[in-house]
Amino acid sequence: MTAPPVCPECGGSFFTDHPAGLAVQHEPTCSLLAHEDGRKVADRQLAIPLGAGPAWRRPATATECVLVAAAVGTTVPSMATTTLWELSGSIIRRVVTWTDGPNDRRWPDVDSW
Ligand SMILES: [Zn+2]
Repeated sequence: MTAPPVCPECGGSFFTDHPAGLAVQHEPTCSLLAHEDGRKVADRQLAIPLGAGPAWRRPATATECVLVAAAVGTTVPSMATTTLWELSGSIIRRVVTWTDGPNDRRWPDVDSW
């Protein structure tokens, strides 16, 4: 059994079963928390004009790449993509995808999504 992933800066736990997908309980002083909060605000603003579709994509942020790399134990290239689904007014699910050699990878890797 592998140890559950944690934020590489503050050691905060990942919420591995959270409907938001990539979700981390950062310490209040963690610089990655500020980046994540800023991105969430921007994603929420994007969700309004693009809300007609079930999902949208954008380039993964550097912070998302760092967090996912901590979760999977390998580097995540900067050309990774984040796919987002608006589940409700308060939850946007994020899944980061990238190509690792011949393999397409994603995190969280939940088949039922
Ligand atoms: Zn953190």
